[in-house]
Amino acid sequence: MFEHQIQPQISGITPYIPGKPISELQRELKLPRVSKLASNENPLGASLKATAAVQAAIADIALYPDGSAFTLKKNLAKFLEYPESGIAVGNGSNELLELVARVFAGPGDEIIYAQYAFAVYPISAQVVGANGIEVPAKNWGHDLSAMLNAITERTKIIYLANPNNPTGTLFEVEEWEAFISKVPRHVIVVLDEAYYEFVSKAVDVNYANGQDYLKDYHNLLVSRTFSKAYGLASLRAGYLLGHDEIIGYINRIREPFNVNHFAQVAAVAALKDQSFVQRVIDNNQQGMQQIIDGINLLGLEYIPSYGNFLCVAFSDSEITAKVNDGLLRQGVIVRPIANYGLTKHLRVSIGTDKENRHFLDALSSLSKLWKSL
Ligand SMILES: *Cc1c(COP(=O)(O)O)cnc(C)c1O
Repeated sequence: MFEHQIQPQISGITPYIPGKPISELQRELKLPRVSKLASNENPLGASLKATAAVQAAIADIALYPDGSAFTLKKNLAKFLEYPESGIAVGNGSNELLELVARVFAGPGDEIIYAQYAFAVYPISAQVVGANGIEVPAKNWGHDLSAMLNAITERTKIIYLANPNNPTGTLFEVEEWEAFISKVPRHVIVVLDEAYYEFVSKAVDVNYANGQDYLKDYHNLLVSRTFSKAYGLASLRAGYLLGHDEIIGYINRIREPFNVNHFAQVAAVAALKDQSFVQRVIDNNQQGMQQIIDGINLLGLEYIPSYGNFLCVAFSDSEITAKVNDGLLRQGVIVRPIANYGLTKHLRVSIGTDKENRHFLDALSSLSKLWKSL
């Protein structure tokens, strides 16, 4: 009915497909036990300090939150040793990624991102009417030199995810430095570090911590989130680090109360409980190994991942769809990623030991689907 009234850049948007909620699957199949390994959520939940802070804050439910997120920004500034004036907080980092597009790009401009990169980047480009330029992936990840070559006079923003979701790939310090040093200063680089906590402390990973480059590159923005390692996905809290001037524009256009009170108090408490984050990282490391071992035994391939998830490969898209269906019937929700053009892969989030076994047992029961070939 309204198709002629819809803005052209909006009508072309394909909706973001979230993981299937547990309640939906339970309703559909009446399953006793469901393991949701579809949305890279935290299998250990959240810090008890964060949940206690939310409980204590419930009395304030009728009040507007602090629109400046004063305490959260102060705590972030202290924790990160980075000036408050260079920090913006958002309703999840997703909001901040979109706000950057609104500040810097409009119709006719170009926004560059990689093939198989996070789905929010093309959506952010479309919403502002910019042309999304997808640069072919290299080994499932970002081809930074090809992305550099894709820059034109119209390029306004480059979105990068390190590690990337859904493929879990990482680019290393040397590659990153060669890239960022050559990007023209009028092009904004958004480095999405949603999985930062899972790699930043790993000794065997040559990881480029985006924050270290903000001083030298004023066209760089770094986004992070409380949704993954901190386990606060439902509350929606993320932050953006960058030059004061850019952060000032983000603050002008964001909604005045974009981060709710419970998200703010939980994030402050969660930041102070780094031992919880360490447990999350340790659990992820063990779970990743557990799933890789199981997948190797089943003769399947996977894309090596630096996140809290792993893409498992099957020989064709039909088998992939059948495996997904077979897993659902046994109460295991993973993420099909055909919407990313990855029709032969399923992405599984690393869970608890029990959830990982549920996944591997269910997968193993389906092995005739690929072994009969
Ligand atoms: C999960 C995720 C985010 C966003 O999470 P929020 O919950 O909006 O903070 C951003 N980027 C990537 C690559 C992600 O996987």
